[in-house]
Amino acid sequence: MVVVGGGLAGAQAALTLRAHGYDGRVVLIGDEPVAPYERPPLSKEYLRGEIEPAAFAVHPADAYAREGVELRTGTPVEALDARERAVRLADGEVIRGDAVLLATGCRPRRLPVPGADLPGVVHLRTLADADRLRALLDAGGPLVVAGGGWIGCEVAASARRRGVDVTLVERLGTPLEGVLGPEVGAFWARVHREEGVRLITGTGVEAFEGHDGVERVRLAGGRTLPCAAVVVAVGVTPRTELAAAAGLAVDDGIAVDACLRTSAPGVFAAGDVARAWHPGYGRALRVEHWATARHQGAWAAGAMLGRREPYDRLPYFFSDQYDVAMEYTGAHAPDDRLTVRGAPGDRAFTALWQDAGGRLTAAMGVGAPEGLDDWATLIRAAVTVDAERLGDPRVPPEEVAGAGATGGVPGACGLR
Ligand SMILES: Cc1cc2nc3c(=O)[nH]c(=O)nc-3n(C[C@H](O)[C@H](O)[C@H](O)COP(=O)(O)OP(=O)(O)OC[C@H]3O[C@@H](n4cnc5c(N)ncnc54)[C@H](O)[C@@H]3O)c2cc1C
Repeated sequence: MVVVGGGLAGAQAALTLRAHGYDGRVVLIGDEPVAPYERPPLSKEYLRGEIEPAAFAVHPADAYAREGVELRTGTPVEALDARERAVRLADGEVIRGDAVLLATGCRPRRLPVPGADLPGVVHLRTLADADRLRALLDAGGPLVVAGGGWIGCEVAASARRRGVDVTLVERLGTPLEGVLGPEVGAFWARVHREEGVRLITGTGVEAFEGHDGVERVRLAGGRTLPCAAVVVAVGVTPRTELAAAAGLAVDDGIAVDACLRTSAPGVFAAGDVARAWHPGYGRALRVEHWATARHQGAWAAGAMLGRREPYDRLPYFFSDQYDVAMEYTGAHAPDDRLTVRGAPGDRAFTALWQDAGGRLTAAMGVGAPEGLDDWATLIRAAVTVDAERLGDPRVPPEEVAGAGATGGVPGACGLR
């Protein structure tokens, strides 16, 4: 069994093969120089200097040897032969498997502007990136964060907690508007301003300027921001090049069916890189979050051993910024109708999205006033929900659907 990509999804797959009783050869190949680790702390506790890398390894350091998994670190896979289910490494070695899993994750997008390669301009994906950024924050800032998505917001929050002067530049009207829409984005804008972040929205970055390192960020319109470090956090792109070169179907991610099978027999994909058909939503989803990498990675091990069960968990993710803990479950589309329960001003509310048919598609809890379990149950049930009851905090989540609820997932696919 050949697993390409030593991240969370790959590491989960390799050890789950053993948990399923597979006793043949398992090779886990990653291009980073270290054993698989969790990335969420890189923008949170680790960036703030509160924990060490051993605290966020995916598995204990000795687990791979104990389970007989050949872990190859610092080893880029250069090519995939899908028909032979074989991968070629940089030194020419070819490893052939009965099945191959592609868990190659994503890489940060770059800003195509002058100065993007200046020292002090950082993209945050790896432990090495986090070490570079920590050193820059140790030097004191000021820091400019270009991009107000999850990672940009978390970096801004962690840097503020370290007392660094932070300016966050976002092209849209609010941070997180791209993923949550303007109304929920306005909540996050207020939180960051209250915590001392200088927020500049509706403006793009035109250039990074400096001599030996970045000294200024120039914005569209000519305004400049002095800085000693920049984090570019403008999204990620799936690492599909191996799959594409091998002729696999690729469409903003490696296309897989609900059982994580690519278009080539015996080749599978999971985690950030996979665009998987989701039976509950009736469309393909590519989810760039920890829980999906973890669960899909484990699921892929079963698929590699011939199990034919669809992966149908609800997407889930979390974010921590300052003292605000946020959880989100489901997947809403941009046109879905938003209802807010609770008081965003108190940093405790639930945002709920419904599709055109009135079915709940996603729920986001801030300060988790009610938890998300009941909402997840409603999403899975796929019943029509009355928007007024949904928005009335006196109606408990488990009673929102009421007796008049209609619908349900056709064929009850058993969403988890
Ligand atoms: C800073 C940061 C904070 C985050 N915080 C959160 C959070 O709070 N909540 C949340 O839900 N999610 C969070 N995420 C997202 C989460 O970490 C990812 O969804 C998860 O890491 C995806 O795991 P993966 O195994 O699919 O991909 P990756 O973690 O990207 O692992 C893929 C691995 O494959 C390697 N690779 C790629 N190509 C090759 C090749 N050809 N040969 C060998 N190796 C290769 C890569 O170098 C990498 O090591 C965060 C991510 C980052 C970067």
